[in-house]
Amino acid sequence: MTNRNPGRLASGGTVHVVGAGLAGLAAAVDLVDVGCRVVVHEAAHQAGGRCRSYHDARLGLTIDNGNHLLLSGNRAALAFLDRVGGRSALTETEPAFPFVDLATGERWTLRPNRGRLPWWILDPRRRVPDTRAVDHVAILRLLRAPPGATVASVLNCEGSLYERLWKPVLLAALKIEPARANAGLAAEVLRRTFGAGGDACRPIVATAGLSAAFVDPALAYLRARGAEIRLGHRLQRAVVDGRRIAALTFGAEAALLGPNDALVLAVPPWVAAGLPLGLAVPMESVGIANVHFRARPPPGLPLVTGLVNGLSDWLFAYSDHLSVTVSGTDLAWLERPALASRIWREVAGVIGHGADPAEPPRWQVVRERRATFAATPWSQGRRPGPRTGLANLFLAGDWTETGLPACIEGAILSGTSAARAVAEATAAMTGPRADRVAGPGSGIARMSRSTG
Ligand SMILES: Cc1cc2nc3c(=O)[nH]c(=O)nc-3n(C[C@H](O)[C@H](O)[C@H](O)COP(=O)(O)OP(=O)(O)OC[C@H]3O[C@@H](n4cnc5c(N)ncnc54)[C@H](O)[C@@H]3O)c2cc1C
Repeated sequence: MTNRNPGRLASGGTVHVVGAGLAGLAAAVDLVDVGCRVVVHEAAHQAGGRCRSYHDARLGLTIDNGNHLLLSGNRAALAFLDRVGGRSALTETEPAFPFVDLATGERWTLRPNRGRLPWWILDPRRRVPDTRAVDHVAILRLLRAPPGATVASVLNCEGSLYERLWKPVLLAALKIEPARANAGLAAEVLRRTFGAGGDACRPIVATAGLSAAFVDPALAYLRARGAEIRLGHRLQRAVVDGRRIAALTFGAEAALLGPNDALVLAVPPWVAAGLPLGLAVPMESVGIANVHFRARPPPGLPLVTGLVNGLSDWLFAYSDHLSVTVSGTDLAWLERPALASRIWREVAGVIGHGADPAEPPRWQVVRERRATFAATPWSQGRRPGPRTGLANLFLAGDWTETGLPACIEGAILSGTSAARAVAEATAAMTGPRADRVAGPGSGIARMSRSTG
């Protein structure tokens, strides 16, 4: 075995970040900003994990593995993009959500007002048709739900307002049928979006691609600050000695961890559970299918359209293709051609402009079987924080305790929390370095004030 433990800064150790999804990248960015020596190890030959772009030969286009919707209230995600320089790859729209009912053809646009006081619910032109302002008040029960409650145990999951507003919104955020989701997570999503007013509800899409927004700028940022990025470098084993990780093995290579070195494990939960480190993780996961069509959007088609009463959930209009998200249903696992035809029939009905419902354009189905952990009360009870029983092992990932369901915002917050925990542990060990690592002028201290 070769010892590939790279050199350390005189005043501190090397932090090995394993996993170059957004959680690992966010941790690495925070750590290089406070002068840590960082090595990122990623098993795949591409960084980005579940949030990445790739060239699809069948479509002849570069597309994302899955459509990702951000909202302007995702402050940590946007701050990360401002820091690494990826924001120009995003398109942000007005706080308006166009919807189509696929069963009736009815169309409406939900328009939250900009401020926190939700007077939009009083205006029938801004809210869901056939609902009353008073119907919206029931959602407050979610905010007072006891720990461990499901959404269905506190909210009536039937009726027009649920089917046409809360269900699509919560499904987009929680990725499972909202009725069986953890009420606390649903409440947190609503607090940070509708509860924060229309200014926090502007839909944002990485129209230039997820990698162009989140991944490539982060890698460039890290490399420019001396971080080593090792792609195709799968962690196979973490060797424990007493209360510390002593070594990491990657095939025939090993990295020995000195007294000041640390590991940030930013891998998916099932990978973390497979390393014999005794970690409790949320194991139930849910799948998401995305159906992409090589068709240009007709003029006037909104960037994102919510679809209810069909199989499709959300329609995304990119400049060179249309793409539909299907989640929370086993029908997403229909045979690919059947799924593509069914979804295209729904899309053709929405876009009109002579689109033939029987003739789908060139299509691709991308399915992520383990897209996110299932946001159930059971999973919620198994989400660990960044610190572990081992002094130099820290956890990051959308599945760690972020207070949010699995999402970009949560992944980035988790990276920041892990980096902060590393900095605090380093400060405790090295004394004077505390000022430099976790003091008021450091990136981590800045992040902790803005996100905490
Ligand atoms: C289809 C789909 C749609 C989504 N839609 C949205 C959305 O609309 N809005 C939103 O905010 N979020 C959405 N998400 C969720 C979001 O993508 C994730 O929450 C986020 O990307 C998770 O980042 P992560 O770093 O925690 O995990 P990951 O992205 O899974 O990163 C973990 C990394 O670890 C690597 N790895 C695994 N094993 C090893 C090993 N042994 N050694 C080294 N590396 C290893 C993996 O290759 C991966 O790169 C969606 C996800 C999917 C899949």
